[in-house]
Amino acid sequence: MKRDIPLKTIERLIKYRRILDTLSRQGKDFCYSHEIAQLANNSSAQVRRDLMQIGYNGTAQQGYMAEELNKIISHTLDLHSLQNVILVGVGNLGKAILSYFSFQQPSFRIVAAFDVDEQKQNRVISGVHCYPLNDMQNIVRQNETTLGIITVPAEHAQRIADEMIQSGITGILNFAPVPLKVPAEVVVEELDITLKLQKIAFLNNK
Ligand code: NAD
Repeated sequence: MKRDIPLKTIERLIKYRRILDTLSRQGKDFCYSHEIAQLANNSSAQVRRDLMQIGYNGTAQQGYMAEELNKIISHTLDLHSLQNVILVGVGNLGKAILSYFSFQQPSFRIVAAFDVDEQKQNRVISGVHCYPLNDMQNIVRQNETTLGIITVPAEHAQRIADEMIQSGITGILNFAPVPLKVPAEVVVEELDITLKLQKIAFLNNK
């Protein structure tokens, strides 16, 4: 079911859920597609199409029930339960990500970090225990973890991806500026900041 929903829709649903959280905190019980659309920077027709795709229709009078819609989106995204994540490469970027997830992300928990640097191993860094790479398989299994973040230098990223996959990781967020080769059943998202900036610069070059 999850795989039947296009990736772009999944990305928008994640955005809608964040917006619904904000609206709920502001005490709004109901909201309209045009309100969500405005905050998500797209059209209300798009919002309605996305929500119909996960089987939710609002009422013309009151719009959508914010809390109920939030639950349905969470269920669809399979994030209603906490997701355990591992991170490999506890350098500048790795530490920043560990700190961010320690304090701000209730849906994800980084259960372990890994690094080749012995000075970093067997210590708690930015709130997360750092282990040697040899421990990855056991820790991934013990914590039923399927998600991994790669923040090692580019030349080591493929080997780390291979080790993650061997350990049971099936979803990878890769910050190293190198494309990864993975089996078809593994989901990879590349987050190459330079490429993204180049794209923005190109589009901005009117
Ligand atoms: P860094 O040198 O500060 O940290 C890299 C860490 O990876 C170190 O702790 C190192 O010991 C560890 N490491 C190296 N090889 C390893 C291996 N085989 N197994 C496990 N750990 C290993 O680098 P950084 O600045 O944090 O960048 C990390 C990656 O993220 C790079 O690929 C970089 O291009 C990318 N990146 C960094 C930033 C940033 O703002 N720092 C931004 C975007 C992308």
